[in-house]
Amino acid sequence: MVNKANVAGSAGSVDSAGSAGSAGSADKGSAGIGVIGGSGFYSFLDEVTEVQVDTPYGPPSDSLFLGEVAGRRVAFLPRHGRGHHLPPHRINYRANLWALRSVGVRQVLAPCAVGGLRPEYGPGTLLVPDQLVDRTKSRANSYFDGLPLPDGSVPNVVHVSLADPYCPAGRAVALKAARGRDWEPVDGGTLVVVEGPRFSTRAESLWHQAQGWSVVGMTGHPEAALARELELCYTSLTLVTDLDAGAETGEGVSHDEVLRVFAANVDRMRGVLFDAVAGLPAEQERDCLCAGALGGMDPGFALP
Ligand SMILES: [Zn+2]
Repeated sequence: MVNKANVAGSAGSVDSAGSAGSAGSADKGSAGIGVIGGSGFYSFLDEVTEVQVDTPYGPPSDSLFLGEVAGRRVAFLPRHGRGHHLPPHRINYRANLWALRSVGVRQVLAPCAVGGLRPEYGPGTLLVPDQLVDRTKSRANSYFDGLPLPDGSVPNVVHVSLADPYCPAGRAVALKAARGRDWEPVDGGTLVVVEGPRFSTRAESLWHQAQGWSVVGMTGHPEAALARELELCYTSLTLVTDLDAGAETGEGVSHDEVLRVFAANVDRMRGVLFDAVAGLPAEQERDCLCAGALGGMDPGFALP
């Protein structure tokens, strides 16, 4: 069942006014936990309120779908939009994270499909990375770009730390949730994010492996960096759907293969996410580095 509401997510506004009296309560229009679904993962909850959010950066990939898991309010956002119409380099990452924060999200779980860079990380492997390498090229990757927002506020020059790009509390919860579902995860590793939408050449893939990196994807950056700039906890859960070109001897990766493997694992990924949502700390009890990423610095604009 889908109810509908609208939220103005512009700078400084956290309105959660419902439209036409449907699902307009603050409860139904807000959520503390966000789940950004990737390739092959387009829905999360059965009973949802659909919330359309506008942001100073334009619209997010899709509506937010708000619901409840284990007594926790959750906002689901399909990263590529319903029907997967947005390629990785066209996703409005800034709008996505802004929109989530504007409905109250402070902790984000971000499943995504990746290629394995080691033979032992075959299809079906769940790896919870602890490091990130950015090899993207064309994406708006910061809120602190010096350009004025529509409301006239101008971001200050702010440099957040991304030394440890993922939330330690969120990672621990995700790993525990996977083990609880008898899906032994790989604890840690480096996600290298490429521009796409093409897959890597064999030479690029062999180079990524030679660096000791673990998995390769197309959406983990700037998502993690933008989450940090908004003081959101961000946890990546990568599902290996294929061995990358340099780690296999066949024809290379195909998109059909990616979607087929994700479809085969989507139910257990949903189960892990349900348990992770239930296990995350209460929003007001966050004591990780993410929650204080700005260190009291004035961003120059009102966080949503
Ligand atoms: Zn955190």
